[in-house]
Amino acid sequence: MPSPKKILPPSSPEAERRLAYFTGRRDQLISTIRDLVEIESPSDNKAAVDCVSAAVAQKFAALGGALKVHPAKDFGNHLQVDFAGKSAGKPVLLLGHYDTVYPLGTLATMPCRIVGDKMTGPGVLDMKSGIALMLHSIAALKDWHDELPRPVTVLLVSDEEVGSDSSRAITEALARKAAAVLVIEPSYGLEGAVKTARKGVGEYQVKVNGKASHAGLDFQKGVNAIVELAGQIEKITAFTDLKRGLTVNVGIINGGSRTNVVPAQAAAQVDVRIARLKDAAGIDKKMRSLRPFNRKCRLEVTGGINRPPMERTSGVAALYAKAVAIARDLGWKLGEAAVGGGSDGNFTAGLGIPTLDGLGGVGDGAHAAHEHILISELPRRAALLAGLIEAAGM
Ligand SMILES: [Zn+2]
Repeated sequence: MPSPKKILPPSSPEAERRLAYFTGRRDQLISTIRDLVEIESPSDNKAAVDCVSAAVAQKFAALGGALKVHPAKDFGNHLQVDFAGKSAGKPVLLLGHYDTVYPLGTLATMPCRIVGDKMTGPGVLDMKSGIALMLHSIAALKDWHDELPRPVTVLLVSDEEVGSDSSRAITEALARKAAAVLVIEPSYGLEGAVKTARKGVGEYQVKVNGKASHAGLDFQKGVNAIVELAGQIEKITAFTDLKRGLTVNVGIINGGSRTNVVPAQAAAQVDVRIARLKDAAGIDKKMRSLRPFNRKCRLEVTGGINRPPMERTSGVAALYAKAVAIARDLGWKLGEAAVGGGSDGNFTAGLGIPTLDGLGGVGDGAHAAHEHILISELPRRAALLAGLIEAAGM
């Protein structure tokens, strides 16, 4: 829970009215979240994700949004919803995803439940509560102004948790047309900070081909791929440069078949994180320039940087400043965080479009059995999002 010091009374009658509006609709917000959490939607199950997509589409259509389904073959369909606004001009893009990391059946052991201030369930924080916040803040703006003050585009994708391969082009195309991008992924920490920087992410595989032989009879005829890989792992690990925010993690290794065989194959999978786009080419070159220590081995390096970092550009900082002002008016101090994990906000920020991430629910345990949101934070988050939709990119 935010420390009491950070929560003050709203500083204007309008802010007070807005908080009271969403506090009065807390039960509807909870019921929307429950509807979505109770439709399980693991990224790798198209039928399941299409099911949650249809439910979400129906809710946006009821608010008067124009639906556009982007069919995907191997993943669930992606959903675009366009709302017209009073003013012309570029829309603000609300970005998120409805896939989760939890396999079908998780609800049985991780039910959607309310205990005290906590609401639990698979994907409740990441990011089905975020989708509910989008729905309710748009509904509120329509309620307050009759029509939306500006055009709004919503994009919800089906494959964010597995790298966004099938949705990336759609996200980038819509971002290019937008004045600003608001990513409704979970906020950071129990104080609900927004995310103004995210690291870029790369993945590499390093494969070593040696030569098998009998460890007893023909030891010297063998070329040990594991020994070669061990040397490469040391070299790769030394690419880490903490001062630059560049990390290289050898996360998975495999190789060999039996103890009495000189191993012919070994491989490592490597996670690379970069804080700055200008470091992408350098680390990529280092990975691709790996050469075998033992000339009798062959090395194969595949992979690359697949998400650029979201850097705290002046556009990002300006959007954050607007969010801080709205939150201050609502009576709290909104913090910011730089995080190591990527989201689709990395793509939009990478194009230079002002992007603010972490505008979704407040809670803990994303991707874990104790995933939950704090119900008492919902009215504040909805009021913040509504305010930002009005102000972003204006
Ligand atoms: Zn997420």
